[in-house]
Amino acid sequence: MRTLHFVFVLFLAFVPYSCKKDSDRRIRKFHRQDVGSSANDILSDKKYKSITIEIIYMTGFQPTDQAVENLKQLVTNVCNKPEGIHVVLREIVAQGKSSYSIEDVKTIENDNRQEFTYKKDLATCFIFLDGPSAENEGSAMVLGQAYFNTSMVIYEKSLKDNAGGFGEPELYKLESTVINHEFGHILGLVNLGSTMYSSHQDTAHGAHCDNTDCLMYWEVETGNVFNNLIGNSPVPAFDENCLRDLKENGGR
Ligand SMILES: [Zn+2]
Ligand SMILES: [Zn+2]
Repeated sequence: MRTLHFVFVLFLAFVPYSCKKDSDRRIRKFHRQDVGSSANDILSDKKYKSITIEIIYMTGFQPTDQAVENLKQLVTNVCNKPEGIHVVLREIVAQGKSSYSIEDVKTIENDNRQEFTYKKDLATCFIFLDGPSAENEGSAMVLGQAYFNTSMVIYEKSLKDNAGGFGEPELYKLESTVINHEFGHILGLVNLGSTMYSSHQDTAHGAHCDNTDCLMYWEVETGNVFNNLIGNSPVPAFDENCLRDLKENGGR
């Protein structure tokens, strides 16, 4: 009788713990897939009815309200999310590193991300850093990178260093251009999870669009975009080919 009692107590204590661990692992695993692989989940309302955008920024490197508003507008325009878009802003301590590798970024996400896809809500994670990318080479700059199916990093320090001054674009325009471009990759552009309806991939530059005016043109995520945003020039938008691909993959 004593033995039986002991086994029963052990069983009760063990089961909930292991269930919780397994579901944590499953949830985290969902967010570690290739860029573009969740495009249909993000675009359509088949599985997920709403989207949560968690913006994790290092102290002093919060994106402008206008850029966040532009992002919400873009999501509203292209994604079928009848239950809405929720933005969660989370400030974290600035690490002050001279540069960040993608491995550094993944560690920062792992340590700080709190929003995960749950039931009918799909969660995404956008990280804003206080330093440049470790992949910069001379004047060739990496301003942002999508690195998992729901994750992107924006090198906000590089944006701030190149915005707002004489002959430089306004900060919110630069932010919107890079954030929206990286979101385009997460939405499977170009040919990265959203199948091309008609051929428009600039294969020499990977998953980018061949239209120099399109938001998904390759130079948009490099330093070469600066000059195009000065003055009254608008933030680039998806061209017809890119919009068509999103629509065909469940978008609106
Ligand atoms: Zn790109
Ligand atoms: Zn395009």
